[in-house]
Amino acid sequence: MKKYTILTIAGDGIGPEIMAATRPVLEAALQQADVQGNFTVGLLGGQALDEYGVPYPQDTADKAKAADAILFGAIGGPKWDQLPRHLRPESGLLAIREDLKLFANLRPATLFAELVQASSLKPALIHNLDMLIVRELTGGVYFGKPKGIEQRNGERVGFNTMVYSESEIRRVAQVAFAAAQKRQKRLCSVDKANVLDVSQLWRDVVMEEGKNWPDVELSHMYVDNAAMQLIRAPKQFDVMLTSNLFGDILSDAAAMLTGSIGMLPSASLDVNNKGLYEPVHGSAPDIANQDKANPMACVLSAAMMLRYSFNLGAQADAIERAVAGVLAAGYRTADLMPESGDGLQFKILGTQAMGEKINEFLRKSA
Ligand code: NAD
Repeated sequence: MKKYTILTIAGDGIGPEIMAATRPVLEAALQQADVQGNFTVGLLGGQALDEYGVPYPQDTADKAKAADAILFGAIGGPKWDQLPRHLRPESGLLAIREDLKLFANLRPATLFAELVQASSLKPALIHNLDMLIVRELTGGVYFGKPKGIEQRNGERVGFNTMVYSESEIRRVAQVAFAAAQKRQKRLCSVDKANVLDVSQLWRDVVMEEGKNWPDVELSHMYVDNAAMQLIRAPKQFDVMLTSNLFGDILSDAAAMLTGSIGMLPSASLDVNNKGLYEPVHGSAPDIANQDKANPMACVLSAAMMLRYSFNLGAQADAIERAVAGVLAAGYRTADLMPESGDGLQFKILGTQAMGEKINEFLRKSA
């Protein structure tokens, strides 16, 4: 029997609630695949600060390194907002990503048919939307040197450096090509090669790498056009590959096409497909401990873990189908209720009950 070690980090705010709702779903999917999951538990962010005085304790670092994949809830909250930057909960997340060298960030933007009204775009534009953004996460202008603010000729000058090496581009391109190969086999690489030298190298390397993936159709787009096309006709995209800065902006825009923060999963992968899987949303302190949070982003993050770290695509599909089935049957968490209209056709569930409902649908489909 295959065995995987999974570190779960529930975190702060709604983190523990969505994790408690998700874990049984993940366990059921592993069981269906005849895979043994060994679960370990770690602290990060606010809880880690309270317990150890640091946001990313050594104990968590050790467990993260020993794990095959990590499922993470969310961190942060008003209790820790006054601390210096390096002691804020969010720096724990940056630290674990850096420590594990998670250079490829995968953010799907998938629209569940039942939630089409939640998008700000016309239904026809986004019906059946299913795209994936692969963003380089550990290089580019956010990390390039030199950087700083200094005095020059009697005024302050601020500067950063957008820098990519060939190997950094190639490894994230490989992740994107592999993802496209598992999907509709189309990859659009987004850059600014008409202006930036670093983008010209990006384009050259992606084209070279493309020769190794002859079954994936490769295209290129300038980032300004890509921003426009995402809003104009998002369904033209299958997988979009881009750098750290461009991906930061484009992935948030793409996420909002689906209209619902409680539904968005993400993955950050290293060179061996070991990954940290987490919802895109934060710790939602305004609804914490009220059994109101939507656990679906966390559940869908677990599905990504099965697909990308464990190569269990069929089980990932099964979880996604269970989520779709629950929505089609009219079950909603409070955040998915329509703002206007009576919403009487829907049955509102709390976090825990929603987790159980997804699990019920998953087991039924087995
Ligand atoms: P947020 O995503 O936590 O919340 C924004 C809004 O969306 C809130 O009204 C919240 O109630 C709602 N929401 C979010 N997730 C939901 C869910 N699963 N179900 C239902 N409603 C949901 O963003 P914020 O309010 O800007 O930040 C709150 C805290 O989270 C801050 O401390 C911030 O630093 C932190 N944060 C953490 C992460 C992370 O852990 N990856 C990401 C973003 C923000």
